Amino acid sequence: MHKKELKQMENLLKSRKNILLKEFEERVKKYLNAGTEKLSDIAEIASCSSNEVLEIAIAEEDARELKQIEEALSRMKSGQYGVCEQCGEAIKKSTIESNSLCYTVCKL
Ligand SMILES: [Zn+2]
Repeated sequence: MHKKELKQMENLLKSRKNILLKEFEERVKKYLNAGTEKLSDIAEIASCSSNEVLEIAIAEEDARELKQIEEALSRMKSGQYGVCEQCGEAIKKSTIESNSLCYTVCKL
């Protein structure tokens, strides 16, 4: 991957990271506002609506993606981004472009 392309990818990942962090923050705020007294009541937590469960699941998904982005960014720093972990070949630009997090193996 050329330096310029790498930089573009880095910016892309960083802006995605910012979006995820913002969503995360909003969610945390919402929980903090919604629920101090709720948290003290175990029965309430147990009857937690499925919507809330869904939201937590989404948050976990986001957290996973954030972690992947962090890893991608650190691989960029060490010059490992876009190099296949299995065979050491450069991963096709088109593969990475279709999913910027597909950067560790050339074949999925
Ligand atoms: Zn490979």
